[in-house]
Amino acid sequence: MLELHAQEGLNESSITEILTPYSFLEGAVYVSTSNEGAFSSMGANEAFIPYCGEGPSQTAKLAVYKLLAGISGKPMAWGALTGVKPVKKYDMLIRSGFSKEAARNYFARNYLISEPKMSLVEETYQNQLFGLGINEKQVSIYANIPICPSKCTYCSFPSIVTNDRALLEKYLDSLEREIEAVSPLLSGKGMTVVSAYIGGGTPTVLSEKQLGRLMGLISPLLAGGAEVTIEAGRADTSTIEKLAITRHLGANRVCINPQTTTAAALEASNRHIANELFAKAIENCKQLGYSTINCDLLLGLEHESRQSAIKSLRDVMSLSPQSITLHSLAKKRNSELPLDAVTGNQLDVSSLHDEMRAILSTAGFEPYYLYKQKYAASSAENVGYSLKGHESFYNISMMSDRGSIIGVGAGSASKILSHGDPLSHENRHNTKDVVAYIKNPAGTIEAKTRFIEKMLYWA
Ligand code: SF4
Repeated sequence: MLELHAQEGLNESSITEILTPYSFLEGAVYVSTSNEGAFSSMGANEAFIPYCGEGPSQTAKLAVYKLLAGISGKPMAWGALTGVKPVKKYDMLIRSGFSKEAARNYFARNYLISEPKMSLVEETYQNQLFGLGINEKQVSIYANIPICPSKCTYCSFPSIVTNDRALLEKYLDSLEREIEAVSPLLSGKGMTVVSAYIGGGTPTVLSEKQLGRLMGLISPLLAGGAEVTIEAGRADTSTIEKLAITRHLGANRVCINPQTTTAAALEASNRHIANELFAKAIENCKQLGYSTINCDLLLGLEHESRQSAIKSLRDVMSLSPQSITLHSLAKKRNSELPLDAVTGNQLDVSSLHDEMRAILSTAGFEPYYLYKQKYAASSAENVGYSLKGHESFYNISMMSDRGSIIGVGAGSASKILSHGDPLSHENRHNTKDVVAYIKNPAGTIEAKTRFIEKMLYWA
């Protein structure tokens, strides 16, 4: 196998000169060039066209992938596409003038993506178009509560386990100071906060009073009509009183996440949450008037079969949420999950996604955001589905890199676009250490102020 990287502007005779000595390598010449037509006519059997920062390394990746897929006889559904944000890649091709057909050909040739995954990318892109018009004066807020009542075995988030009310109060003190510092910086420059996401961890581990305090800090930042999501993922913490407080103080979307309804898989994941509690939480959210209820499912858990996973999906659908997000089990650095719990699982999570997509589609659910993770079961994806009009603007903004996000709280990430250019943004992370965050609010504020002022300068 031979890989060549060619300069632009070569004419046909110089191309012939380059390739002729390698003619004995018939069927194994890869060329990285922008002059694809000329090279293919000269005998290279594959050409990779560098684009969007990709180049020789992608050419090599494709060649290695082909070799391994050939040896194993097991091509991957996503082919040689290993990036986290396939839809962003597609978006960039379209924005640079590719037709839909040309973009499809690009994915087919350069990543060897399968048809089901290609159509997933296309459909997801189409369904998120409405959210891509964000401008530089619009921003989202992410507030992190990295605290949980117990640890799920597959968890990779840097959340701590505690019910210590005094510690939670101190955490809110630091969060309040950070928000109070961020707020005038944004409003002083005419920035509009169009969405907020209160996530974790488990925000509903806070008491009713503390949740009221948290919402009271965030609500004044928001523009009228802002999308506000509260993650109330664990139904064992999401009492009707807490859900009522967050709803009353501005949350209009809520996540109640069973992950599975298979009792053995829940037990093995250290999530001792009865399905009845989950169903009750959904019922409460409907009564309280949340406009969108999302439920997460996690595919690839221990003690989960294909049949039981499908049943979990149908169980969730029977409760009529407006949004369902399918995640794939993944091994991450901070997770205690052994790697072979992911790689050793015989369940084909990738094709399970395809089957579930078909089921969701018949009920009117369409994919609207999508991302991939390293070391995911079957190298499968994570996909947010919703009924029309229930897409999360925050999720689209996050995954498309079309909008700036200011994170507050320990472990939160901020991302600021440079002149709205998705190819150019800067990230900043608050400390993940909850105790350090509590102890040093001044340090957090100083770093955050410097970072935001840069954005204000751009804006
Ligand atoms: S609820 Fe979420 S953040 Fe908390 S331990 Fe479980 S997976 Fe991790």
